[in-house]
Amino acid sequence: MTFSIHGLAVARGIAIGRAVLVASSRMDVAHYFVEADRVDHEIERLRNARKAVIEELQRLQQSLSQMSPTDTPDELSALLDVHMMLLQDEVLTTGVKHWITDRLYNAEWALATQLEVISRQFDGMEDAYLRERKADLEQVVERMLRFMRGVPSPVAPPMPSPAERRRAAAGDAAGDSAQDVPLVLVAHDLSPADMLQFKQSVFTGFVTDVGGRTSHTAIVARSMDIPAVVGARSASQLVRQDDWLIVDGDAGVLIVDPTPIVLDEYRFKQRQGELERERLSRLRHTPAVTLDGERIELLANIEQPEDAASARAGGAVGVGLFRSEFLFMGRHDRLPDEREQYLAYRAAVEGMGGLPVTIRTVDIGADKPLDSHRGEAAHPNPALGLRAIRWSLADPAMFRTQLRAILRAAAHGPVNLMIPMLAHGREIRHTLALIDRSRAELDNLGVPYGPVRLGAMIEIPAAALMLPLFLRHFDFLSIGTNDLIQYTLAIDRTDEAVAHLYDPLHPAVLQLVAGTIAAARAQGKGVSVCGEMAGDPAMTRLLLGLGLRSFSMHPAQILAVKQEVLRADTARLAPWAQQVVAAEEPATLMGRAG
Ligand code: PEP
Ligand code: MG
Repeated sequence: MTFSIHGLAVARGIAIGRAVLVASSRMDVAHYFVEADRVDHEIERLRNARKAVIEELQRLQQSLSQMSPTDTPDELSALLDVHMMLLQDEVLTTGVKHWITDRLYNAEWALATQLEVISRQFDGMEDAYLRERKADLEQVVERMLRFMRGVPSPVAPPMPSPAERRRAAAGDAAGDSAQDVPLVLVAHDLSPADMLQFKQSVFTGFVTDVGGRTSHTAIVARSMDIPAVVGARSASQLVRQDDWLIVDGDAGVLIVDPTPIVLDEYRFKQRQGELERERLSRLRHTPAVTLDGERIELLANIEQPEDAASARAGGAVGVGLFRSEFLFMGRHDRLPDEREQYLAYRAAVEGMGGLPVTIRTVDIGADKPLDSHRGEAAHPNPALGLRAIRWSLADPAMFRTQLRAILRAAAHGPVNLMIPMLAHGREIRHTLALIDRSRAELDNLGVPYGPVRLGAMIEIPAAALMLPLFLRHFDFLSIGTNDLIQYTLAIDRTDEAVAHLYDPLHPAVLQLVAGTIAAARAQGKGVSVCGEMAGDPAMTRLLLGLGLRSFSMHPAQILAVKQEVLRADTARLAPWAQQVVAAEEPATLMGRAG
């Protein structure tokens, strides 16, 4: 039966594919297709894992029998029996084999998928005792996955590019070979680190139950240039494994089990999107200059050093925001040391081939916990807590390690060093002192380093209200509109329940943005916007009219923004932009640009 679920549009385009339901706790399972001639090998790996776990459980049973009866409650032994029974259950083994043989999933992925299928059957059971067996099944599967992690897996074959995947998705739904069937990942939640893990993955689309439009999970989805919908409430409950889905990343809609007519309609839209992309790609080498001759800097936001390649391919003239925290996430407490960080920053600098790279110091906290499965977000208000520069200043030795790594990378090309979430004068002074100390440490060791331009993010209203202080200490400012909106309007950017109140056009937000641009320009200092607003073509004219000349965004958005730049006349836009900022309902004036 066809039905649709409405969520929030986060990453453009249409994806059509079969649903793959993934539980948050199973995100770290490898997802790749195996060649048909490796199927037996995968089944063998599975068999070995099952055998090993059965032996493990038998050993446990034996050790229990050797203990005194008072130390070994009967329940424990009975539980081990249940685990053993579950391991040998046909529904588990036949199901997993199906995913490997018919769909060519690797063994771990097949196991996690079948777990998800059976878990739902358990959820639907009337009997409370049987419902609770779900936890036992999860434990058994976890044991098998742990065993398989210890066994070297075959190297994952190279995955098709997003464009190739989109083309595959546009093909006929039926009759494709298993590897060609496009897949859409559906999950209750995905942490930004989980999302990043799927960067080179097999999925053509993403859907999550939770999340806001500028949550970091959504930001990573956008950077992958894959259609995505977040905040789709109960999608992960309503969608079944293997359902055909349409993800409309433009409208924020998920269509489940579409009829042939609906499928045709969306395939048509998909082709239109492809054509539009091809048309825009012709602008790649066109300089971003407005009709009245203003040169506009279009920069890239990146999460990993390897993203430098897509930044250059997208036509970026530099990196305006390297979110360095992605190097720190999912490391299970082993943070990257100076050398590892230096090599990563250096790779980004070299990857940009002489174009400037703005490295932002780590912004851990809020919806970017160090480790998504450790429940760090248990703080009452993580977005207002120990995040970004506050986290760095709480551990000066760790912070200096990062600063030294960035300074060293600056010996290999132009680097800007940018600090997130500053709000207090004493934070600025403390940070600058640590930068000086890091330089001195490198001097003492005789380690070479390069010059950096120092920048501050303006993303807390308090910072936007004390610009003279910031302009005294920094070479440039970068407006983080994602957080500036969140903190000005007191709207959690990750909470879909208040997403309708998250408004980039709120007069208070516009006044802070306009004031920051004007103050920096008045002092001849650089100013850019690196929040999602900069990559939204609907905002380009307004920002140009307010005097912005530097925009930083996901590489995939650069050409659409460039198109707006090429059509704009900043001299005509300026008076209109002032009217928009002064208006009570700025949105009503947005269509009337000069
Ligand atoms: C912002 O807040 O606008 C920003 C660019 O930083 P992040 O999205 O990483 O918080
Ligand atoms: Mg921010």
